[in-house]
Amino acid sequence: MRREGAGPGAGGSIPQIRLANGQIIPALGLGTFGSDLYSAEQIAGAVEFAIRNGYRHIDCASVYMNEKEIGHILTKLIREGVVRREELWITSKVWNDAHGEGEVLAACEKSLTDLQLEYLDLYLVHWPFPNYHAPGCDGDARNPASRPYIHEEYMVAWRQMEQLVERGVVKSIGTSNMTRPKMELLLRDALIKPVVNEMELHPHFQQQALFDYLVESGIQPIGYSPIGSPKRPERDRTPQDSVDIEDPVIVDIAGRWQVHPAEVCIKWGIQRGEVVIPFSVTPSKILGNLKAATGAPLTPEEMARIATIDRNCRLIKGQVFLWEGARDWEDLWDPDGKNY
Ligand code: NDP
Repeated sequence: MRREGAGPGAGGSIPQIRLANGQIIPALGLGTFGSDLYSAEQIAGAVEFAIRNGYRHIDCASVYMNEKEIGHILTKLIREGVVRREELWITSKVWNDAHGEGEVLAACEKSLTDLQLEYLDLYLVHWPFPNYHAPGCDGDARNPASRPYIHEEYMVAWRQMEQLVERGVVKSIGTSNMTRPKMELLLRDALIKPVVNEMELHPHFQQQALFDYLVESGIQPIGYSPIGSPKRPERDRTPQDSVDIEDPVIVDIAGRWQVHPAEVCIKWGIQRGEVVIPFSVTPSKILGNLKAATGAPLTPEEMARIATIDRNCRLIKGQVFLWEGARDWEDLWDPDGKNY
């Protein structure tokens, strides 16, 4: 992976990263998961505002239930000449209920139809398990069909991801929410390797060891919840969770720059080498994050200070994907691969 063109602050453009397969991804994208708070129309409105103001990368997923509305906006903006298709980077993800034989292909087809696109720039396996829950369920809900990671099952999904590349309907494929042991198995067995892993990354959850392993393996980390997901659903909250944008170091640096602490998180993520995909429906925040990505960089001292505030605080724990009898969400992540 190589940083292309102007770096942050050098030319005022969004930094670009060249992936291992040669595709070039903008280092700032707009997230589109509304955390059960915002309507599909509101999120599509945010996509329109973002693209009109210079965003070129949109992080979608079928489970966010707004791809149709976003597709309508993409078509409108392309027809109006605001942007050309080839200038956009559109990601979608296959949901956990469609990992079976033939199901990934069908899910991708549905996302392409909804988004009104002929190809996706990036398609991800959203989670490495076929475990799913009813929309809007609470954190204690358990689906009796849920189970720990089974590599053979994952490869059924991955083979279809590879077919999508061979058919030319997806330019790049990747994973999301992977741990190192799972990634090692995938890299052993993949015919087409993932070029990205989308994962939770913010100053209080830096995942440095996994980050380094991915980069060494030619896999670009895409950081989700880069601001610490301050409006995530109730089911994803515990009393132990910390708040990045209230961290004294982040607040102090933001004060010096006279920006919101969220913008410090965005600068840090991009300078660290991530692609970041902050969500917002609020025009001033969408613009603030763009300014953070294109403006002057943090100093080496500021970067070093933020490196010291990691708390290993995972926010998106995925409890709702647990199986009956699992102890807690650590069983789901199984970071050392003890269950397989
Ligand atoms: P973020 O860390 O991006 O936080 C989003 C929240 O931060 C919004 O509520 C927004 O406010 C607020 N915010 C954004 N910018 C600013 C700013 N400049 N100043 C102040 N507040 C700001 O969390 P998300 O969890 O939404 O993650 C981002 C995206 O990552 C998702 O939308 C989704 O696309 C992706 N994702 C992927 C996952 C996966 O499994 N692959 C899991 C989780 C997320 P407001 O609402 O007021 O606009």
